[in-house]
Amino acid sequence: MADVLKGNAVAKAIKENIIKDVEELAKENKVPTLAIVRLGNNPGDISYEKSIIKNCDNLGIKSKVYERNVDISTEELVGLIEELNNDSSISGILVFRPLPKHIDEEIIRNAVSPKKDVDCMHPWNLEKIFEGDISGFAPATPMAAMEILKYYGIPLEGKNVVVVNRSMVVGKPLTMMLLNENATVTICHSRTKDLPNITNKADVVVVALGKAKFFDEKYFNENSVVIDVGVSEDENGKISGDVDYEKVEPIVSKITPVPGGVGSVTTSILLRQVVHACKIN
Ligand code: NAP
Repeated sequence: MADVLKGNAVAKAIKENIIKDVEELAKENKVPTLAIVRLGNNPGDISYEKSIIKNCDNLGIKSKVYERNVDISTEELVGLIEELNNDSSISGILVFRPLPKHIDEEIIRNAVSPKKDVDCMHPWNLEKIFEGDISGFAPATPMAAMEILKYYGIPLEGKNVVVVNRSMVVGKPLTMMLLNENATVTICHSRTKDLPNITNKADVVVVALGKAKFFDEKYFNENSVVIDVGVSEDENGKISGDVDYEKVEPIVSKITPVPGGVGSVTTSILLRQVVHACKIN
């Protein structure tokens, strides 16, 4: 039986620190405020928005929703973002993605002020991650994986870590964060040959494919620490990670559950960054 690395405990610890910071800011009459920009009424976006607003309310962070029609033009969206950049009452800006296809995402990423970029859209903030500079904003998902490793005291220095994902939102920034902790990192992807042979020699394996129950016992060993970032529906429509939890949990050392693992930490990371934005703006 593995130790289950639950995200809730990690999120709770982060939120406790947020509350302290919000109290300190209140002494200077500052209230961290998040602007949420949502295009259209996608149910996934609405549910994520509700959860963010609830968390904001509980932590003393203000949230404001800017809902726009899904057929808004790139220019109009840039106009809204510039308004928010110049609004001193707004600390951080979150633009829900993916954006509709007709919007030029590159232009939007560059429009958000790097100082209010709590979702790490702007290339400057991503660049900072690659330079090992922690003064900017990090993408929430890889940061959540790092926080889980840190909270549960999983050593990284000199350890072999395999990341199965090479996207800009997960795998690449995560690799940089792991390198900063002196791990030896291998990145795998869909063209990697003999994946089980690579993952089952690693100390820590982070998986983020988006393929329910893809990883079974042959990918791991009894000392494996498994961080499952994937979120998708299994054949019964149930939320599942990339790991076949029933088969893998009994044979590895530590594992994050899905749901209740990485995903339950990401909102706290986002809100911690809103507080950071309030401090620096
Ligand atoms: P993505 O861009 O589709 O990346 C998937 C990665 O998996 C790619 O690098 C792909 O390789 C690799 N891959 C696909 N099939 C593979 C295979 N058979 N063997 C080895 N590698 C394979 O997706 P993403 O946006 O990074 O997200 C990945 C997962 O993380 C999704 O399930 C998403 O829902 C989840 N996610 C979770 C959170 C959270 O808060 N928990 C947040 C964001 C995303 P190629 O590069 O070669 O195509």
